[in-house]
Order: sequence, then C-alpha cells, then structure tokens
Amino acid sequence: MKGKLIVLEGTDGSGKSTQFARLCARMDAEGLQYHRLVFPRYQEPSSMLLRMYLQGEFGSHPSDVNAYAASTFYAVDRYAAWKQDWGGFYQRGGVILADRYTTSNAVHQGGKLEGEEQREFFDWLADFEYGKLELPRPDLVLWLDMPTEKAVENLRRRESETHTKGDIHEVDEDYLRCCRACAKKAAEHYGWQRVPCLDEAGAVRSIEEIHDEIWTLARKALNL
Ligand code: ADP
Repeated sequence: MKGKLIVLEGTDGSGKSTQFARLCARMDAEGLQYHRLVFPRYQEPSSMLLRMYLQGEFGSHPSDVNAYAASTFYAVDRYAAWKQDWGGFYQRGGVILADRYTTSNAVHQGGKLEGEEQREFFDWLADFEYGKLELPRPDLVLWLDMPTEKAVENLRRRESETHTKGDIHEVDEDYLRCCRACAKKAAEHYGWQRVPCLDEAGAVRSIEEIHDEIWTLARKALNL
C-alpha cells in the first residue's frame, strides 16, 4: 500500500518552515493523522556529510562541491529517515508532510549546472532518489515562489531575531538568486505546483493568505 506525500519546497527564506508549521497546525485542528518530516535531519548522524559541507569543511563556497557529490550527502540522510522513521507509516497508507525533500537537491544543487547539463542532472536526481534508492515520489510538491530580495530580507530578519548566522548557502546572495532561477526550471521540469508569494501589486502576501492556498491544494491532494 502507498501513502500520500506532500512536500513544501522553496529557496532559503521563502517561508517553508513557517508554512509547514501552519499546515501541520491545520491538520491537527482538523483531527487528521499524519507524520512530519523535516529535512535535513541536522540532529542525526546520517546528516554528517551535509553538515560538513554547509559548515564549509569542503570549501567556503557552495560550488567547491559539485552538484552530484553534494546531492548524495542529502540523499543518504533521506534514505536513513525512510528506513528508520517514516517508511513503515507510509507503506501502511499514512500521510506524510515534508519540509523539503529530494526536491531540495534540485533547487540547491541544480543551479551549479546550466542548460542541457542541468536537465541531465534533474533526470539523474529523479532516477537516483526515486529509482535507485526507492524513495517514494511526492504526490504534491508546493513550490513557494519568493523573489530573492524578499527571501534575503526574511533570512536577515530571522538571523537577527534568533541571533544566528546563515550557513554557506544562506549568506551567499548570488547563490540564492541562482537557486531561485533553478527552482523555476525544476518546477517546470518536474511539474511542481507553484505557490506565488507576491500579490499582483508586488507585495509579499500574508502568511495566512499563502497558507489558505496551500491548504486548498493539500486538501485536494489528500481527497479531503
Ligand atoms: P525557510 O524555512 O524557507 O528558510 P522561514 O519559514 O524560516 O523560511 O521564514 C523566514 C522568515 O521570514 C521568518 O522570520 C518568517 O517569519 C518570515 N516569513 C515567512 N513567510 C513570510 C510572509 N509571507 N510574510 C512575512 N514574513 C514571512
């Protein structure tokens, strides 16, 4: 038996964690059963290599590690999670909500390549994670499309509110811009559902308004 898997995706600072918390709260309020997944699993040993990468131990710039190598770091963490945490629940027909998934490799690593090489990477990624590692394909990928300038404002605000500093991805504005362009390509390539984060006047939509759209799309995917 196959469960349902809904993924929230977007560049850093696009509001994934915020919308993920809202979606989970909505499921709780409706009394619906589900399992939460947040990637990467920074607390688990299976994320060791990606932590080394993000802390700059393989180089201070994201491009110091190529898209394929970096993708494997994240993929093994997902494989460990599947085996240890959510595989059984999903196979019994459970609903999984995920803050990031295989889709994050497309967004964060695909921008290291261009044109045909990027498309080849997208196909390799799907074959590697869904084919070879046998991780389930999502039923719905909600791509939060937030312009880079607004995402950067969000990130800097979060850093000052939480007294933290971003990792090698989050501090690099050119890299974030490149990720957004890549996310657009990936969304077309894989058929993700775009959730626009700006209104028609170009202002950032409220957290509530974005949530309402996400909830409508999620309900449909879950046949509620
Ligand atoms: P991500 O998980 O994609 O990196 P977060 O959900 O942590 O992003 O959001 C980054 C910051 O932006 C947080 O401080 C959050 O409160 C704020 N934020 C997210 N979405 C919106 C929005 N639609 N309007 C205003 N602020 C937002």
